[in-house]
Amino acid sequence: KTLPIDTVEDNYVRTVPNACFSKVKPTPVKSPKLVACSVDALKLIGINEENMKHKRELAEIFSGNVLLPGSDPAAHCYCGHQFGYFSGQLGDGAAIYLGEVINDKQERWELQLKGAGKTPYSRSADGRKVLRSSIREFLCSEAIYYLGIPTTRAGTCVTSDDYVVRDIFYDGHPINERCTIISRIAQTFIRFGSFEIFKTIDPLTNRQGPSVGRKDILIQLTEYVISTFYPDIAEKYSNKIEEKYLAFFEEIVLRTARLVAEWQCVGWCHGVLNTDNMSIIGVTIDYGPYGFLDRYDPKFICNGSDSNGRYSYKQQPIVCRWNCEKLAEALSPIMSVEKAKQILQKFDIEYEKYYLDKMRRKLGLVQKQLDSDKELIDQFLSTMYETGGDFTNSFRTLSLLHLPGTIHFDKKVEIFKTNILQQCCNLDEWKFINKPDIDNRTLQMLSELAEQNDMFLQQFGFSAERIQVEKMKYEKLKNIEQLSSDQKRDADWKQWEKWLDLYLIRLEKEIDSNDTNDIDRLNKQRLKIMRENNPRIVLRNYLAQRAIESAEKGDYSEVRNLLEELKHPYDGTDKDEIDLQKPDERIQGGEQAQ
Ligand code: AMP
Ligand code: MG
Ligand code: MG
Repeated sequence: KTLPIDTVEDNYVRTVPNACFSKVKPTPVKSPKLVACSVDALKLIGINEENMKHKRELAEIFSGNVLLPGSDPAAHCYCGHQFGYFSGQLGDGAAIYLGEVINDKQERWELQLKGAGKTPYSRSADGRKVLRSSIREFLCSEAIYYLGIPTTRAGTCVTSDDYVVRDIFYDGHPINERCTIISRIAQTFIRFGSFEIFKTIDPLTNRQGPSVGRKDILIQLTEYVISTFYPDIAEKYSNKIEEKYLAFFEEIVLRTARLVAEWQCVGWCHGVLNTDNMSIIGVTIDYGPYGFLDRYDPKFICNGSDSNGRYSYKQQPIVCRWNCEKLAEALSPIMSVEKAKQILQKFDIEYEKYYLDKMRRKLGLVQKQLDSDKELIDQFLSTMYETGGDFTNSFRTLSLLHLPGTIHFDKKVEIFKTNILQQCCNLDEWKFINKPDIDNRTLQMLSELAEQNDMFLQQFGFSAERIQVEKMKYEKLKNIEQLSSDQKRDADWKQWEKWLDLYLIRLEKEIDSNDTNDIDRLNKQRLKIMRENNPRIVLRNYLAQRAIESAEKGDYSEVRNLLEELKHPYDGTDKDEIDLQKPDERIQGGEQAQ
């Protein structure tokens, strides 16, 4: 422990000045039971298959009931900007750091329990987590890892016979839920928010960090992070202090840009991109109300309390950059603000480059990079949007198409047609998606008001543009209502054909020779790259929800089986592209209960 630690060994809730960690012990639970474990994640901390047979011991250790020798548990102190506003001290309110493990590859991993009881940072909450939120974090941490995206890992999910109440029935009857604990593994859980504990008073919220003014500790924290997690930077700039901090800032800006580009490319929404949920090493952290896109919609919001869509799918790159700006502010006592601003400009460039490169691979454009590719990608997304195409499946279905000039090319276009149309929503869903938000009578009244005076309209909380959008939805709905299912399919195919024309022209540019053998070889390479970049399976909300519902009845097999499936998201052959996992919007759920 090279960072300042508050040695009051207690979990009473308080403000903790001048410390990065506070000592605290997990609170034991009654009869811990192992719901599931991730063999690969546990290997990181040196737990082997033989150890994994000892289920009872594992449950005792990973519930926090038994501490491993050498473990010196603590909770981390951090602040954060939540939904755009500075919140002051937050900290590990439900997570407890157990210590670090150096495995036989000499890798150093930090181990945490989430849901192991109160800490000094629990504020008004109880430091517990329930079965559903724990299963969601457990499964998605691992799913994101197997998709190839940087993330914290989850080793175990352990439930118990202790209960907490999160929701209450309408009749006032409490719903008891099992206290459940997951173990999380990462190089570090230090966040952007960890650097905000030094923040001077915020004019908007009148809050400040608990360690305000302690530049000495800020330097200690920054030096610790750089020397431990960015050793190359530490070595390269060993004598140049400010250059070192700027190089570190640049590296985290670039990593964050690449991380969010990865999320966009698998259609994943984090849901709570506050600065306290941004990792200082650029990995995905804190899985709450996250969601994978089913039908592509750039305005998709997965967090029920995000009514303004601050953290919607399309906002993610923008808010991640904003968060980097907050990190720059936090580092401003030790780093030039002017230079940090210049570095921030690189976020957009890196994001754009990384996103385009990945999207090209997803579309199977592997030979050349053309400026017009961005247009082709945007058109693909808007075609998905217009036809109600499923994000994951539409990409995977592209592997059914072969390059022009290869054998069976025309037949493949037919197969593509059948299958891409299956990924688009049916008529009822389409009507539902396109339904206006304002009823017709209100809309007419508002339109009349708008003609008289815009001021009236504003009193009702509507803008003239909003009315325009709603009117267009009515127009669109009128057209849709006259359609039959077959006609929707025809209309959808017209849209897809338009895109396909662009795509085929682009694919021809991939081909340099007329030699069929060459084209066949290129096609094989293209299909391989597409399959490696377009998952066949993602953790759709209904899959997590189904596993949770069985687990709540005491059957954990579905959680375990689902984890097994999520381990190989890119595997599969042509057959799997035809038989893809469909979205199921009837099954609700996913909103996180802490
Ligand atoms: P999140 O929105 O999950 O990033 O959490 C924001 C803050 O609330 C963090 O400081 C968490 O540690 C804290 N928190 C979340 N859940 C709980 C809980 N059940 N008990 C205590 N603190 C919590
Ligand atoms: Mg958090
Ligand atoms: Mg959380």
